[in-house]
Amino acid sequence: MKESLIAEFRSIVGKENVLTSSEALKAYSYDGTTNWIREPDVVVFPTTASQVSAVLKIANKEKIPVTPRGGGTNVSGGSVPWLGGVALVMTKMNKIVRIDKENLTATVEPGVVLQDLTLRIAKDRLFFPPDPQSFLGATLGGIISENGGGPACVKYGVTKQYILGIEVVLPTGEIVNLGGRTLKNVVGYDLLHIFISAEGTLGVITKAELKLLPIPPVKKTIMAVYDDVAAAGESVYRVLENGVIPDKIELLDNWVINRIEEMMPIGLPKDADAVLLFECDGISEAVAKESEQIAETTKKYGAREVRIAKDDEDAAKYWMARKAGFAAVYGKAKTVFAEDVTVPRGKIPDLINKCKELAKKYDVEIIVLGHAGDGNLHPAILTDINNKDHYDRSVKAMHEIIEGAVELGGVLSGEHGIGLEKQKFFDKVTDPVVVNMMKGIKSLLDPNNIMNPGKIWD
Ligand SMILES: Cc1cc2nc3c(=O)[nH]c(=O)nc-3n(C[C@H](O)[C@H](O)[C@H](O)COP(=O)(O)OP(=O)(O)OC[C@H]3O[C@@H](n4cnc5c(N)ncnc54)[C@H](O)[C@@H]3O)c2cc1C
Repeated sequence: MKESLIAEFRSIVGKENVLTSSEALKAYSYDGTTNWIREPDVVVFPTTASQVSAVLKIANKEKIPVTPRGGGTNVSGGSVPWLGGVALVMTKMNKIVRIDKENLTATVEPGVVLQDLTLRIAKDRLFFPPDPQSFLGATLGGIISENGGGPACVKYGVTKQYILGIEVVLPTGEIVNLGGRTLKNVVGYDLLHIFISAEGTLGVITKAELKLLPIPPVKKTIMAVYDDVAAAGESVYRVLENGVIPDKIELLDNWVINRIEEMMPIGLPKDADAVLLFECDGISEAVAKESEQIAETTKKYGAREVRIAKDDEDAAKYWMARKAGFAAVYGKAKTVFAEDVTVPRGKIPDLINKCKELAKKYDVEIIVLGHAGDGNLHPAILTDINNKDHYDRSVKAMHEIIEGAVELGGVLSGEHGIGLEKQKFFDKVTDPVVVNMMKGIKSLLDPNNIMNPGKIWD
């Protein structure tokens, strides 16, 4: 990149907010995995929407790629600057601008880390339900751009249900406001939602209006233990079918249970094929009744044992195990494939059985954990890119897991996005007319293809 352009960026955001050292370029070259690595030419930290606008105007004129970045915790390559250019890091725009207790909303800048928001609004007994398990690093801009989810989606839904409005800077530099501050809004086309899950390919989010909820007074955690992981999958929809909607239902298989016990022994049943973790929340009478019903239903459908957490400390232990699940998987091998397929919940046992069948067929270990309550599982295969034979078998198994999930009526990605990782499947499983509509929207808003080029397609 021309030195004169870097000088222009320095004059816009300040010298201290532009990095070009080789260490900095490396630090912003990857995402939450190390599966894809590409360095930007320059790293820019804007602190206002007008600075973002000025940077984008230059990039658009010079046709320079711009990759927005929050915490860099995504796992699909979204924040990797695939074609170089500017890594636009939003972490210095990290103010919680307003908490409106009357209207149960908060206005935030995109670089606010989820955990900081959670701790701040908890002081007012409020919470923001979407809870990606990367909450210690993920920012609201990244969460909105991936339409993130987490355990609590079973009852509360995903990010898009909690975004009332956004301020976004278009690739041409215009600053626009979409949506608003009200719960209802049907003024013309719903353009707000085009930017939610756009993976930074349409513009840069510089502010968001969030919908909050009051923290439920009581929570209870229940762990059901199974000798057959597919039976655990069945219990998920049996509990829901019985009219109980817990806020969380998470699944850990035998490999994950043992890996967690190896990292931090907390007394999980190491001989179990799987456990399901449930959480119920609400008023105490309802929580007590729902917990009983969950215990009854899971026992009826194959749980060999049901444990109810004694107190908050006990419950926190179980949830710590789930939070550590992803790190447990990623920390164990040189190369990890962790998928994000989502199926209708009644099909979870079929998806689990498909994974078992493919593990045998390709002689690889397939680990299963994830947000079972949403039908969103993260089947994972540990491999090593340098062991060609094992790696190739793992790739084939992963491809068939995705095809299997789609055949079961599911989708390619529930929460991690397409990014770089799932492009090879995107065209295959998406109606060509729909792909063309998406491409039309992209070229209308970003005619020079500067926003996060190389992602979702190409
Ligand atoms: C241990 C671990 C656990 C995880 N658990 C979950 C989980 O439970 N649920 C889940 O949904 N995800 C999970 N993830 C994935 C990831 O954390 C989420 O995708 C998260 O939303 C990314 O936020 P981020 O701030 O790190 O965004 P980044 O990774 O920096 O960026 C993500 C995407 O958003 C774009 N982007 C970032 N900021 C902006 C902005 N201001 N404007 C426009 N585009 C922008 C980027 O270009 C990129 O395409 C997990 C990841 C890890 C490593």
